Amino acid sequence: MGLIRYLRMQFMGKELLITGSCRSCGNCCRKINLEGAGGWLRSEKEFLEVVNDYPEYKRFIITGKDQQGFVQFSCTWLTDAGLCRDHENRLSLCKNFPDKSLHFCGGILPPGCGYSINEVRPFSRYLAEEVKERGKQ
Ligand code: SF4
Ligand code: SF4
Repeated sequence: MGLIRYLRMQFMGKELLITGSCRSCGNCCRKINLEGAGGWLRSEKEFLEVVNDYPEYKRFIITGKDQQGFVQFSCTWLTDAGLCRDHENRLSLCKNFPDKSLHFCGGILPPGCGYSINEVRPFSRYLAEEVKERGKQ
């Protein structure tokens, strides 16, 4: 799905635009999928391999599987107030959320997230087309 989205956007001259801001709901720290070297994690064994290489991932606990068979995790650093226990030292994947790659891998933002990811046509495209059109006249 991600490749199709990417190719469609290339064809239509679109780019991704992330707007909005964090509402501190904590939903991106619950029911999340994690990625390993071979893609989204599908088993506890794959997760333990990641933890072996990156012990900081021990903060995540398995809560189940989603409909696609990917393991779902919650972070133990999330406080009852929905905030990160150590916001300054959160992982890069947390700092970079929401990353544009979420859109390309077919993912969606968590419910209630204050951000939006939209496919837009940049102004420079419209401008280039207008200049080209006027050049023909
Ligand atoms: S480290 Fe903090 S920001 Fe990252 S998932 Fe855990 S609670 Fe959320
Ligand atoms: S889901 Fe969105 S609004 Fe909620 S904490 Fe994460 S980034 Fe912030």
